[in-house]
Amino acid sequence: MNLKELQNDWINAFSQPMMIAGPCSAESESQMLETARRIKETNANVPIFRAGIWKPRTKPNGFEGVGVIGLNWLKKVKEEYGFKTATEVANAHHVFAALEADVDILWIGARSTVNPFTVQEIAMALRGTEKTILVKNPVNPDLALWIGALERLLGQGIKNLGVIHRGFSTYQKTKYRNNPNWQIALDFKSQFPNIPMLIDPSHICGNRIGLADITQEALNVGYQGAIIETHANPDEAWSDAAQQITPEILAELIGNLKMRNTDLAGFEGDMGRHRTLISDIDFQLIELLSQRMKISEKIGRLKKENDIAIFQPERWKVITEYAIQKAVETGMSKEFIEKVFKAIHEESIEVQNNIMINR
Ligand code: PEP
Ligand code: MN
Repeated sequence: MNLKELQNDWINAFSQPMMIAGPCSAESESQMLETARRIKETNANVPIFRAGIWKPRTKPNGFEGVGVIGLNWLKKVKEEYGFKTATEVANAHHVFAALEADVDILWIGARSTVNPFTVQEIAMALRGTEKTILVKNPVNPDLALWIGALERLLGQGIKNLGVIHRGFSTYQKTKYRNNPNWQIALDFKSQFPNIPMLIDPSHICGNRIGLADITQEALNVGYQGAIIETHANPDEAWSDAAQQITPEILAELIGNLKMRNTDLAGFEGDMGRHRTLISDIDFQLIELLSQRMKISEKIGRLKKENDIAIFQPERWKVITEYAIQKAVETGMSKEFIEKVFKAIHEESIEVQNNIMINR
């Protein structure tokens, strides 16, 4: 049996989009029960309640989760409100405790997926389980590592699998906490069409504003569900306060979602897919242009300090020749690339001119 042959019928027990909601971290019994009660009272279609029991935090000495006591609160959420429950496991001890407490869905966090030893330890502790195991993408955009984690789970006889796209971290500050990369997710989907894919807009956005758009974009490209951090009192949350939303806002978000036709032959589905990829590339183009302009500024300062003219015709010649050659190689028109590079070069000269004049 290999990953491609897995049927992954578990997702069919849920209507789509399959929503998982609940706080980043379990904090207290009352916070858990109030959050669960309010999600229930909205009547939004949320079958699964999440809460982090053990929290991987960037720095030491902060709140690292309540630990096993929180598993009792997840149990109460299940008993009182009928949710299935989900939590993150990051080592064998977490796995044994979560299985003992009958948590329904376990996920491997982004910081664990990067580490094959950790994934192997978790997989072995889970050996033969019927539970659904979701694997978040690793923090770095490495598709092979992500797939490797699933293979380690399958190697231990674990067949109910799914993945969560939570974005990729970069040193570069962007509008996202973790940049989404639809291409890598689509590459995954084309290789493993049967493995359900969920989106985690909370850890992608890092704020409350972009959540609905990211979730809808994911549905547009064929994702089957989302995991969204939801807290009774988001501003007071002990972790990830900026990105958590109230149950009522969650219900509104879910109400506005449109499940897309995922049939590739369907026009709408295709359009959504292409448009999302284009937005993704546009975003990267802008980021790259901004990096280019910042380097250009540095060159401007060097030129100023050394009394060198801004316009260096030989350099410009090399740049345009290279760009034209690349354009032809990649099947684009020479005229188009000339136009684009002329605009970039003009802006670069403008930026350097400002440096020469103003400082
Ligand atoms: C989380 O879901 O709370 C979490 C820690 O996410 P990630 O592993 O994506 O950082
Ligand atoms: Mn979180």
